[in-house]
Amino acid sequence: MDFLERISDTIWEIPVSYKEGMRVPARIYGSQQLIREMDAGVFDQVTNVATLPGITKYALCMPDGHFGYGFPIGGVAAMDIENGGVISPGGIGFDINCGMRLVVTNLTYKEVKPHIKQLVDNLYKQIPAGVGSKGFVDISRNEFRRVVEQGAQWCVRNDYGWEEDLELIEENGCFAGADASKISDRAIDRGANQIGTLGSGNHYLEVQVAKKEHIFDPEIAETFGITMPDQVVIMFHCGSRGFGHQVATDYLQTFLKVMDSKYGIKILDRELACAPFNSPEGQAYFAAMKCGINMSFANRQVILHRIREVFARVFGRSARDLGMNMVYDVAHNTAKLEQHKVDGKERSLLVHRKGSTRAFGPHMTDVPKQYQAVGQPVIIGGSMETGSYLLAGVETGAETFFSTAHGSGRTMSRTKARKTWRGEQLQKDMAAKGIYVRSTSWSGLAEEAGAAYKNIDDVIAATELAGLCKRVVRLTPIGNIKG
Ligand code: 5GP
Ligand code: MN
Ligand code: MN
Repeated sequence: MDFLERISDTIWEIPVSYKEGMRVPARIYGSQQLIREMDAGVFDQVTNVATLPGITKYALCMPDGHFGYGFPIGGVAAMDIENGGVISPGGIGFDINCGMRLVVTNLTYKEVKPHIKQLVDNLYKQIPAGVGSKGFVDISRNEFRRVVEQGAQWCVRNDYGWEEDLELIEENGCFAGADASKISDRAIDRGANQIGTLGSGNHYLEVQVAKKEHIFDPEIAETFGITMPDQVVIMFHCGSRGFGHQVATDYLQTFLKVMDSKYGIKILDRELACAPFNSPEGQAYFAAMKCGINMSFANRQVILHRIREVFARVFGRSARDLGMNMVYDVAHNTAKLEQHKVDGKERSLLVHRKGSTRAFGPHMTDVPKQYQAVGQPVIIGGSMETGSYLLAGVETGAETFFSTAHGSGRTMSRTKARKTWRGEQLQKDMAAKGIYVRSTSWSGLAEEAGAAYKNIDDVIAATELAGLCKRVVRLTPIGNIKG
């Protein structure tokens, strides 16, 4: 790894001389140990990304980075759209707007513990999970087109949630400019019955506890709604299901056809298929991708509605009475148009974040008004066995266009994890540690063992040291539903 230049304890650079065609250096974030453990594919992929037209400043990879489709997961790339910058589905991910939502309760661990099995069993029953699972929102295909244009706002209008939920979702739950006429019938077919479903694999719904010793910044924690030790919260992670996947698939095909022949763009890897942002194809994908973003906001909104119903039933009190307020909903697979200062000048950049969470600092527009003073809540999953984090965006995040990690990131392939653990045994071991887990598949559960992921505390320490975000609370799992 002698091609890596050490910039600081947590920043490593690969210069443009490393590979022909690199327009900017690549920068990888992480402690020396995290970098050493990264798969070689990350370095190859992030330097491929550095060759894309319009890339500004650096091709970036976060400390949870690992090999992905075209871009590494954990990849960030900001494209200058006024100077030929491209949009690339591989820089967003197939699961458009995969993201995390965090909800608080006013219950403590002591109050929830005796009911955890009943709670998780009921959540498992009420929130469809697993490959190809179908939702309970019964709507026509035309109505679904409205959902993907309106996102969580459609849900609240249709009584799936509270008006104030919307302010606590990125883009207020509806990414403006979504255009369902840019969506294929196949994508509509795949998505129409999937609203309110968790999906499979690493998508999850987790009941967690904010232990006293893990509240690092009590003031910010309070601003975010975590006001007492041992408070119980719910974190869930899912995306746009088959719908987003189909949108990405459709436009990858479109881009491959026009990229070179019409726009003369040559790429090092077919998986980096792209088109100029300011081209008919680029604009069509942007409008279609926004539909994927909205589908995902709607999906998480309907799931929240069901979670509130289940809690209300199990505890015999209304969700309002249980204080089931949202902390935030934040995406980690998107491309968004943002204004950033680069070398002292304001620029319009299309920021791709693929397995990377936006982490806007204090006083930035788009941070909800109640969080203006402290920065945006950043929600990062660790694993079902270890723990997760709630953090806040900080001013120094400008270095990465205000982006940070999105998880701990895998260290072991799913195949190897399946060979290493057995789902049934893992469930028992977790029960012994005080985590009640349900899954749609034993092998799927084995793939998700805590040790198949990097150490979340190391990843978070690196993001904080690098000045990308600030720790607020570490959250410990007590119940989990795995897709
Ligand atoms: P991805 O978005 O890449 O699919 O996964 C996001 C991150 O979620 C993973 O990197 C992993 O750290 C985390 N994660 C996966 N499964 C679980 C889980 O069951 N519980 C928690 N808390 N985190 C998880
Ligand atoms: Mn996903
Ligand atoms: Mn995800």
